[in-house]
Amino acid sequence: MTSERIEERLADVRARVARAAARADRDPAGVDLLPVTKGHPASAITAVAAAGLPRIGENRVPEAAEKQAELAGGCGLDWHMIGRLQRNKARKAIGLFDVIESVDSVKLARRLSRITEEEGHEPIEVLVQVNASGEAEKAGLAPAKLAVALDEICRLGGLRVAGLMTMAPFTADEGMLRKTFRTVREASVRCSDEVEGFEGGVLSMGMSNDFEVAIEEGSTRVRLGTVLLGER
Ligand SMILES: *Cc1c(COP(=O)(O)O)cnc(C)c1O
Repeated sequence: MTSERIEERLADVRARVARAAARADRDPAGVDLLPVTKGHPASAITAVAAAGLPRIGENRVPEAAEKQAELAGGCGLDWHMIGRLQRNKARKAIGLFDVIESVDSVKLARRLSRITEEEGHEPIEVLVQVNASGEAEKAGLAPAKLAVALDEICRLGGLRVAGLMTMAPFTADEGMLRKTFRTVREASVRCSDEVEGFEGGVLSMGMSNDFEVAIEEGSTRVRLGTVLLGER
């Protein structure tokens, strides 16, 4: 995909973001786009950078490593890890990514904290992943367990907890999507009251099939693969 083609798609996506924000009386500037380049060649990343977008998302450590080797760096973009991170790949991930959006357990947070401090690396920005739908195969903390987990995670050194991330069920049922996103937004508000050191902030929610509902429900970052970059 060329940067011209991305710019065309981007114009369409931005219009859809603006309409969704307007429906919720929100400023569309409060919604960041995270182009998800997983499954696309490294050239998609240069095209994203050429289109003027500041960040990309990848979901696998080896794929990100291969692409950074091929591109001889990160193209000046912020790299966001959005996929499940095995604890034995945490060190590698810290070297490759600027933000880890998929912190799905206190154990993983502890490990990231320890490695960051051990290596004298600057604090890494993280989001805590919430499993709001209760699906067994989805990663993330249950909303009921979030406050206790965040209380520990926010005390760890080497991490900057910037907010929450979630994946909704894969469904066209708008009511169910809405309920999932709302649950996460409400959990964020509640935890920013209850948990010292947690200020909420980023709500990374919404993908190609559900980003408009996510924006209506308060998303501040939509992670978009297919609508921006085409089918994988
Ligand atoms: C792949 C992926 C996306 C983007 O998916 P699309 O449906 O192509 O927009 C967003 N978030 C996560 C966690 C993903 O793995």
